Amino acid sequence: MRIENAEVIVTSPDRNFVTLRLTTSDGHVGIGDATLNGREMAVAAYLSEHVVPLLINRDAHRIEDTWQFLYRSAYWRRGPVTMAAIAAVDMALWDIKGKAAGMPVYQLLGGASRNGIRAYGHASGRDLPELFDSIRKHQDLGYQAIRVQTAVPGLKSVYGVAAQAQSSGKRYDYEPAQRAALPAEEDWDTRAYLKHLPTVFEAVRSEFGEDLPLLHDGHHRMTPIQAAKLGKALEPYDLFWLEDCTPAENQEALRLVRQHTTTPLAIGEVFNTVWDYQTLITEQLIDYVRSAVTHTGGISPMKKILDFAAQYQIKSGIHGPTDISPVGMAAALHLDLSIHNFGIQEYMQHGDATNLVFEQSFTFVDGYLHPGDKPGLGVELNVDEAGKYPYQTAYLPYNRLHDGTVHDW
Ligand SMILES: [Mg+2]
Repeated sequence: MRIENAEVIVTSPDRNFVTLRLTTSDGHVGIGDATLNGREMAVAAYLSEHVVPLLINRDAHRIEDTWQFLYRSAYWRRGPVTMAAIAAVDMALWDIKGKAAGMPVYQLLGGASRNGIRAYGHASGRDLPELFDSIRKHQDLGYQAIRVQTAVPGLKSVYGVAAQAQSSGKRYDYEPAQRAALPAEEDWDTRAYLKHLPTVFEAVRSEFGEDLPLLHDGHHRMTPIQAAKLGKALEPYDLFWLEDCTPAENQEALRLVRQHTTTPLAIGEVFNTVWDYQTLITEQLIDYVRSAVTHTGGISPMKKILDFAAQYQIKSGIHGPTDISPVGMAAALHLDLSIHNFGIQEYMQHGDATNLVFEQSFTFVDGYLHPGDKPGLGVELNVDEAGKYPYQTAYLPYNRLHDGTVHDW
């Protein structure tokens, strides 16, 4: 089974997506997600200029060998562009292997370890009534775990708070990347945030009770001592996790946070290899691995990271907002269903146009996802539909403090 054709398809139904589509000599078609929010065309060029020519005539069954070849033969290792490109190849080959075997990918990964995949959704509000409405709306959709993000008094716009105007004029749940020639500038004040956030969780707990699992994303904005202070302040509200409390390139910084709080910690959506987790995992400085299959080189290396984490009782919390295409989401779901150390899955629903471009067989019922039982990943790309939506320039926002200093966004 040889790879005969490889195409890179960029489409922008509700947002930009990069998809690799491989066709084999015996007619199987496999697809993989290579979407890197705000830098999509860099991955598209990496694939079409440097990877596609290497794939033609390779044995489509040799997933591990192809992965190692692409990773090691480039000489230049790691990085989000490289790893998103390799991820698309890896996913497409798993899709093909599943179709050739007549099995869903999770069966090839060892079969189901659970009946369904608990998902969390993103609730947000500019004030408490709007936040409570958003939580109720998510509960009505079936979500049984909720991420809570809120505006901070005195700040114009805050990460994770929906209903910020999109340049298209449409509201697309919370989508931070805006279609515009330049990135939007937002403002930030860590002291105001640290003061405000515990009051929000106190209000949410008194409105919704003790049982609802609640999550929060700090989005890399705190220093280690600030993160420690926040984790401690949130302990009475029993969070499922506090995510990305510091920019964790400095893995040792988490030692300080860990010494001061028992709030569970989740990190890693911007990471792209196991090496980004080495200290975090071996010293048990985190509780959940947050990487995306799409940004971490695909299903094969993500399974290795999660198996490594399992030895330290660290669980999965795979990245899954709308900057992951339905293909990348399906890849996550096959892993979630098969691994033993599953924690929770992030799930933000795509828009109608995206759902027509990517025909999906995964389901979301009563708060639980399932990848379905179609052979392969269970997602098909409708090429005609994709062709209706050319790439549109879009950037993630960035932050400045009140004195004008650029801050982590
Ligand atoms: Mg996050």
